[in-house]
Amino acid sequence: MFRCGLSRLYKGLSRPTGHIVQPIWCSFPRSLVLSPQRRIPDFNSFVGRTNTCGELRTSHLGQEVTLCGWIQYRRQNIFLVLRDFQGLVQVVIPQDESAASVKKILCEAPVESVVQVSGTVVSRPPGQENPKMATGEIEIKVKTAELLNSCKKLPFEIKDFVKKTEALRLQYRYLDLRSFQMQYNLRLRSQMVMKMREYLCNLHGFVDIETPTLFKKTPGGAKEFVVPSREPGKFYSLPQSPQQFKQLLMVGGLDRYFQVARCYRDEGSRPDRQPEFTQIDIEMSFVDQTGIQSLIEDLLRYSWPKDKDPLIVPFPSMTFAEALSTYGTDKPDTRFGMKIVDISDMFRNTKIEILQDVLSQPQGTIKAICIPEGTKYFKRKDVETIRKLATDQFNQEILPVFLNANLNWNSPVAKSIMEEQKLELLRLLEIQEEDMVLLTAGEHNKTCSLLGKLRLECADLLEARGMVLRDSALFSFLWVVDFPLFLPKEDNPGELESAHHPFTAPHPSDIHLLYTEPEKVRSQHYDLVLNGSEIGGGSIRIHDAELQRYILATLLKEDVKLLSHLLQALDYGAPPHGGIALGLDRLLCLVTGAASIRDVIAFPKSFRGHDLMSNAPDYIPPEELRPYHIQVSRPTDSEAEKSSLNHPPDPEN
Ligand code: ASP
Repeated sequence: MFRCGLSRLYKGLSRPTGHIVQPIWCSFPRSLVLSPQRRIPDFNSFVGRTNTCGELRTSHLGQEVTLCGWIQYRRQNIFLVLRDFQGLVQVVIPQDESAASVKKILCEAPVESVVQVSGTVVSRPPGQENPKMATGEIEIKVKTAELLNSCKKLPFEIKDFVKKTEALRLQYRYLDLRSFQMQYNLRLRSQMVMKMREYLCNLHGFVDIETPTLFKKTPGGAKEFVVPSREPGKFYSLPQSPQQFKQLLMVGGLDRYFQVARCYRDEGSRPDRQPEFTQIDIEMSFVDQTGIQSLIEDLLRYSWPKDKDPLIVPFPSMTFAEALSTYGTDKPDTRFGMKIVDISDMFRNTKIEILQDVLSQPQGTIKAICIPEGTKYFKRKDVETIRKLATDQFNQEILPVFLNANLNWNSPVAKSIMEEQKLELLRLLEIQEEDMVLLTAGEHNKTCSLLGKLRLECADLLEARGMVLRDSALFSFLWVVDFPLFLPKEDNPGELESAHHPFTAPHPSDIHLLYTEPEKVRSQHYDLVLNGSEIGGGSIRIHDAELQRYILATLLKEDVKLLSHLLQALDYGAPPHGGIALGLDRLLCLVTGAASIRDVIAFPKSFRGHDLMSNAPDYIPPEELRPYHIQVSRPTDSEAEKSSLNHPPDPEN
């Protein structure tokens, strides 16, 4: 019964058609309005209204109703349009002398004031119906009205089609939340989370457990926020994720855990990241990689909004090595082709010196991607930008080849390449008329990363020129598996760091390599990718204390004392276990088609991690810092200048 009601509610909430709908409240999709026959939540219980503004229809004709809402606009002191989360309704302002006080209230209250009106639902006079409005066949003949609160002049209009800067939206977030788009995003988020809870707890016996947010520093991984304590020199850390706790819950016999978990990472300014974010965090005992993957596929299928095409499971899977060599990244956007093709073999006997050189190096390769209709769509300036990106960021040359309508080559290399090589290239890259090919030569990983980056840049450019490459209604899920357990440290390639986190178990067939060639060990780590974004990741964990100690101390050179509680717990009969975390914000961002993850979070931080509404983080007077034994040393002028260069102000400001 409950399940059935929820899925109907989902059907009711359909996505607005785009970011800018004009005028948004008039084009309120009919399907958003929940008909009274459906089993739906009671929006009117316990409050001073009988109905929501947006729910009224001809089926309510003759009913006496009380509505509460915001004044969206007023027309000639005759009509008032009232808004609540569910939609708009037209209210007729009484004109007769006996209702002068009601008229005064409704005519004088500024737009966005909040009012309560009581009256009768009547038909609009013939010819005055508004088919663009879900409530367009009726209006309210008002008898009484009360101004609940007046609204001052607003910093921006509450209409989705009115453009405003993001800084202004964040500064007045409580007003921005009144917009249809934000209402839709947050309500959809709530519904998806509810379905996930229902699936996990009610259908599969998971236990929802809260874990602490005051914790201690964890070795490796992202930087953590620290919280001072009253003990001199001692600090808590805010957890990057509940990783250790969820593993400890397995040792504690809570063998199916989940949590809508708040996580914190102090990663500085990153355009589409948040310092605090939410994960659907899951851990299970006695499970393997396939078990976790099937659980997630089924969970997403179950909680997927009903107004979108149902998900097809199982999701495809690709190894890390394949993802890198075909798409140049571990999070490929598989909605379109333009795959990287290795053409080294064609050039084994080449006379071109520079190519000979590259091929004689270890891991030296020649690779290419084909940009559909690139010759037609790309301007000289675009090609220059592409070449500059390659030299600036990868220190590698790109050779463009333009194909004309007869598949003739236009490129500086054309003369040096034999006819049969050209034909072979046409075949390998499936080149069509007016395509453009980008050729490059270099070390395998670097060359893949470069072409992976150019693939996305070119896709953006093609789309900016009008080509439809990525279907916005398509959700292309992909598992990426068989990651290496370790990667060379970015700042010190001679040392290793965990590719996922240090608790990830090695691939069973590679364990022996841990003691000889650890860099070759694959892991039992899996990532879930959607349309080119990582939306989840997890692993089967190490449950053997000795192995965990060896990896931490010997291979990662971490201080094991920091993790002695976990190592001890593994020694006390820890079951084999594994888990995953889904990034809820990013998932919702993709599902709603929002421009940024900030649009699916009620009160997000800005690009620089600031709360533009309350101005957090903020200074604390020295006397309030004294109990924490903290003294602030203010940066010198030159340090401050340097820091502002490294961290430019919020672009929105
Ligand atoms: N704790 C991991 C993360 O936040 C996810 C996991 O391994 O379950 O990425």
